[in-house]
Amino acid sequence: MKYRAVKGTRDLLPPECERFAAAEALAREVFAAHGYGEIRTPILESTELFARSVGETTDIVHKEMYTFPDRKGRSLTLRPENTAGIVRALIEAGVQNLPKPIRVWCAGPQFRYEQPQAGRYREFRQIDVELVGVADPAGDAEILEMLFEFLARLGFQGLRARVNCVPAGKAREAFSAALREYLAPRSGDLGADDVRRVEENPLRLFDSKNPALQEALKNAPRTLDFLDERARRHHQGLLSLLARAGVDFDEDPSLVRGLDYYTLTVFEVTSSALGAQDALLGGGRYDDLFAQLGGPPLPAVGFAIGEDRLLAAAPEDPRRRRAVFVVVPDSGSDVDYALSVARDIRASDPAAVVETDFTAKGVGRGLGRAAQVLEGSSPYPFRAASVHAVLLGLREREGETVTIKNLKTGEQSTFPRRELAERLGGARETRQ
Ligand code: AMP
Repeated sequence: MKYRAVKGTRDLLPPECERFAAAEALAREVFAAHGYGEIRTPILESTELFARSVGETTDIVHKEMYTFPDRKGRSLTLRPENTAGIVRALIEAGVQNLPKPIRVWCAGPQFRYEQPQAGRYREFRQIDVELVGVADPAGDAEILEMLFEFLARLGFQGLRARVNCVPAGKAREAFSAALREYLAPRSGDLGADDVRRVEENPLRLFDSKNPALQEALKNAPRTLDFLDERARRHHQGLLSLLARAGVDFDEDPSLVRGLDYYTLTVFEVTSSALGAQDALLGGGRYDDLFAQLGGPPLPAVGFAIGEDRLLAAAPEDPRRRRAVFVVVPDSGSDVDYALSVARDIRASDPAAVVETDFTAKGVGRGLGRAAQVLEGSSPYPFRAASVHAVLLGLREREGETVTIKNLKTGEQSTFPRRELAERLGGARETRQ
């Protein structure tokens, strides 16, 4: 084969792509019910945007970005995450004049030059939510509660959020100093990347995949011991709001997350249904990012769900069930009649999938196609609630009738075409 998808990217063909679209439709429904509107920002941004926000010392900026000069030599990057672009877009739109809070969500591809493996791609998709203008822990709690409602609607049960609070400002400096001091006598456990982290940004040590270091960090100074009064109050406030909202969580002082812009709250949800790459989503508060990127100081909090992993782990298929009709003209002379019957069925049941078998090679072949849909023996984009074959030959065409066979029950009946709306309407009501 001459051309293949670029390493780490993959094609989403209809059955899978329909599942992605259905998850996004569900996200839209749940998020809109909380006042979140969709935002779409460009896939390309200036490289500096990510360096300034995600952070120079993070793995993402340090070694995972798809960065290239455009034809005029400007350095551009395929977005590795969505928050920086959204913050840039809101600042550009005059965020100071927009009514607060601002509630937005989006879904789309992200790019990271990582070593591909199961659940880890170079192009992957995220569903992203951001709440801007709420400093109170009620903001963190709102997005977490909404997130868990979304996950429950996908059938997830027993998921727990790991929640931490990372010190900011002076407290973060003190925490970094304590980490350095703790690790000084343990330098033997550090790899080359870790040594760089100790010097540049000790918080990033928690991202290290080096098992010796991870072991050593188990007894390291804890973020929660370094919180100032405001951070402590925020954290405690959030925990009690989560408990009241019924969101299951565990405090995890080693959770730091691989992006620099987080302040105070960080959280992550993992799923045991996934393999080694078990992080389903992550998020947190980023109260300094707007100012850092040249905007007004504005508190904000958000999360990003890995959509590829979400669908790999989702217990329920997010696609709604739909009636499927395979309309089968017996011969070429029946095609016109079949097309107009197909139109009638669509008008009677707008949620139905109505497809016509254009081969017109007889009823047997058409029934075979319908049986495949019923059995799921070949990939089908839709999730069938029921499968009917609509058989149209000389007899039906001349008598203005239709013959409909329910593939599951084997029941078959012939009736006047004008009764379609009534019969299908009735069938629709009893289907669910
Ligand atoms: P992050 O933006 O790093 O906080 O990641 C948020 C979520 O995106 C993670 O929890 C994963 O579910 C997903 N994710 C991150 N990187 C990848 C990747 N390379 N391939 C697939 N999913 C990813």
